[in-house]
Order: sequence, then C-alpha cells, then structure tokens
Amino acid sequence: MKDFKDLTREERRAALKALGQQSFREGQIFEWICRGARSFDEMSNLSKELRASLSDSYTLGSLSVEVEQISSDGTRKYLLGLPDGNSVEAVLMRYEYGNSLCISTQVGCRMGCSFCASTIGGKLRDLKAWEMLDEFLVCQERSGLKLNHLVLMGIGEPFDNYANLCEFLRQIHDPKGPGLSYRNITVSTCGLIPGIADFARDFPQVNLAVSLHASDQEEREKLMPVAKAYRLPELMDACRSYTEATGRRISFEYTLIAGKNDSEEDAARLARLLRGMLCHVNLIRLNPVRETGLRSAEQGKAQAFRDYLESHGVPASIRRTLGQDIDAACGQLRKKMGQDF
Ligand code: SAH
Repeated sequence: MKDFKDLTREERRAALKALGQQSFREGQIFEWICRGARSFDEMSNLSKELRASLSDSYTLGSLSVEVEQISSDGTRKYLLGLPDGNSVEAVLMRYEYGNSLCISTQVGCRMGCSFCASTIGGKLRDLKAWEMLDEFLVCQERSGLKLNHLVLMGIGEPFDNYANLCEFLRQIHDPKGPGLSYRNITVSTCGLIPGIADFARDFPQVNLAVSLHASDQEEREKLMPVAKAYRLPELMDACRSYTEATGRRISFEYTLIAGKNDSEEDAARLARLLRGMLCHVNLIRLNPVRETGLRSAEQGKAQAFRDYLESHGVPASIRRTLGQDIDAACGQLRKKMGQDF
C-alpha cells in the first residue's frame, strides 16, 4: 500500500479529487499531519466514509525517536527511525534568539568529504519531503520546545535531493503547517553549482551556506572530492551571482583542520578570495571523527584565523561548539548505533 505522505501536495489533491473530494480537504489533511496525526481516524473533520476509504488505500507513516541524548548545554540529539528501518539524525540547539533544529536530507551521503562521518558508508537513499518535515514535527513534539529556526546541515547534501528539498521547504513554510519563515531557514551545500543557481531562483528568501573549507583548488580537492567537478573559480562565480540575484549574504563554512587549512597563509588566501563579497565566514574547529585521523585546529589558531579575516575586511566568527558530550559531529551517532552498514 502507498503512503499518503509520500505524495506531493499536488498529488494528494489529485488523489482526493479522484475520490470525489474538493481541494480544501487536502489542506485539512495537511493540518492534521502537521499536528502529528498518526492515522486517518483521528481526522475528525473528515467524513467517516472518506476516512475509511483513505485508510483502505493508504498508510500514514511517521518517524520514531530511537534515541534522545540531552547534553549538559541543553543541546538535544535525536536518532530518528524511518519506516524502512534506516535512521537519520537531528540536533536541537538552544540559542538566545530561539530554538534551532538541524536536520538530515539523505540517508548517508555520497559527496565523500574526507573529514565527515556522514559520508563513510556512502548514500543509501534520499529522504522524502515528508520525512524531512517529520524530523521537525517529531523533534518539536518530543522536546516540548517551539522550534523557530531550521538548518539543513545534518546528514546528506540538500542539492543532491533537490525536488524533495523544494517540496519540503514549501510544506514547512505553509501557515497551515509549521509556518516557518523562509528567513529563519538555512540550507547548506558542499558547492553543487547548478543547485546554487536553481536555489537563487526558487527560494531567494532562504539563507544559503556554502561549505568552502579551503581557499585554493588543490587544497579543496584533497578535502572535498566534489571540488573536482565543481571547481573553486566557478563556485565563486556562482556565489557572486547568487548574492547579486538575491541581495542576500552567503555564509561560508570553513572547518579548521590542524596542519591542513589553518595557517596564516590559508587565512590570507581566503581573505583575498572573499574580499568585497556579501558574505560571512563561519569558522568551525573540526569535530574529530576517529576513522579520518584528522585533528582539530587549536583554539589559538582559530582565533588568529578569525582575527586575520576580520582585519582584512572579511566578517568572520568562530562557531560555538555545542553538544560535545553527545557525539555532536554529524553522522557519529548513527554510525555508533551501527545504522549505516
Ligand atoms: N552537505 C552539506 C550539508 C551537510 S554538512 C554541506 O556540505 O554543506 C554541514 C556542515 O558540517 C558542512 O559545512 C560540513 O563540511 C561540516 N562538517 C562535516 N563534518 C564535520 C566535522 N567532523 N567537523 C566539523 N564540521 C564538519
């Protein structure tokens, strides 16, 4: 039997029309889904007949919380079970401005970044739009906290799952559902150039983060195989076009790895690369993943790197590390639970 949530909202309207229903029914069902309904029977404003025929034709899947870890700093990490037995991670972070959830977009990842835990077992499959929405709904329900910010920086590459990403963003933005403001959502990419152009056109109000991690082509290729297909000069052109088209600043993610990309020379090259661009650099000290053998840059080096960028006209900050005591680096919990092989 097909899962009703597997359908796009367009397809749901068509399925309901085939059952002789008007299109507003789809909105009613969407509201129930977003309120966490687990069966059609709970949808009390639908007729008994409609509930029965939907139950006869469709299942209504949902994600389950397999593990919840709460860090001493309030960060919560969730291992979420999918209907096919796979699992993904989501992380809830508490900030002064509100609660932010980081969600996954794929089961595993095929981008192959050398420092990242999520890619070690490759990609198993894309997440459906409803599964991404359920990450949000289930974490909100379990934590009892209102989530008002969302980052797509968990397991997976959002632009490698573009159609589902778009459907998901429209659903989470819908006032009948969570009604999250586009400005409170950030999508992070490892630099898939065609995705950046599409995204500027389709979601100009959603924030974009680009994982850079290196300031020249050779160095970037070593850390990120995707750089061989999407080279740094073209990536920077795409980023410039993005800021021109949207008027929005790009966040560049730069993970500091000891002896690889954390020298003053690296900082100088990065400053030259980004000078004059509408951007901000987020420096993240590597969260070491045992299998990679890579080490985190020292705190002092991270500060010197930030100071260099700032004094050369490139806004930069060091991202606070949260959830250190609960396997915070993405993909680590899933790996530990033996879910990716
Ligand atoms: N695929 C997307 C989003 C997921 S990764 C992307 O590459 O942007 C989210 C961020 O975490 C990326 O900047 C990624 O490079 C970074 N990251 C991955 N593993 C990390 C680690 N062990 N320590 C620090 N940052 C890491």
